[in-house]
Amino acid sequence: MTRLPGERLDRRPAAAGAPADRADPADAAPLVGVLALQGDVLEHTRALRAVGVRPLPVRSVADLEAVDGLVLPGGESTAISRALGRAGLDEPLARRIADGLPVLGTCAGLILLSDELVEDDALPRPGGIAVRTRRNAYGPQTASFDVRVEVAGLDGGPMDVAFIRAPRIEAVLGDAVDVLAEVDGAPVAVQQGARIGLAFHPEVTGDLRLHARLADLVRRRTGR
Ligand code: GLN
Repeated sequence: MTRLPGERLDRRPAAAGAPADRADPADAAPLVGVLALQGDVLEHTRALRAVGVRPLPVRSVADLEAVDGLVLPGGESTAISRALGRAGLDEPLARRIADGLPVLGTCAGLILLSDELVEDDALPRPGGIAVRTRRNAYGPQTASFDVRVEVAGLDGGPMDVAFIRAPRIEAVLGDAVDVLAEVDGAPVAVQQGARIGLAFHPEVTGDLRLHARLADLVRRRTGR
């Protein structure tokens, strides 16, 4: 069986829908971007293909204009923010998100989607989810952990996910935000309209049900 980098090695079967189980997405499938300036782009690219949409690495405004949905990967939010500015993508990205582009932000991606940041509020970012988030709140890289979380609206039981120098959502700032999952009393998965923000990395442990949810949001919007 094909194993993905970072896939769990505890001998449990790969999550249903893992790439090895699926054919390539059809040409007519929606195009979903992965912001490809820094971070774990490859894992998300594979995850999108596995849930039946066509992935596109997004590095330019033309790439961004072409996509029907977007993943903001984990990585380093400060580096991604700087690269967005350098590529001239900062304003176009904020505009597309404000216009309702379906997005999934994991970890650093959640930081970029957060309307407020504790201590780092000057970080240039698109925002779009009404939460107050603190970077690196779960400790350093060495304090990374895997955990099993129950996610609202997902069939098939809890998800095993990885927290890697993860941000903590300290407050939900509006009624428009649904909390989909909590760990130790703090929200770790939130959704506001077509925007999903995750403190963790499902693409690292290979459970792709939230990528499938993004794909559904995209299909609902494009009708394809
Ligand atoms: N600590 C990183 C940041 O602040 C996020 C870590 C991650 O994406 N895994 O951007």
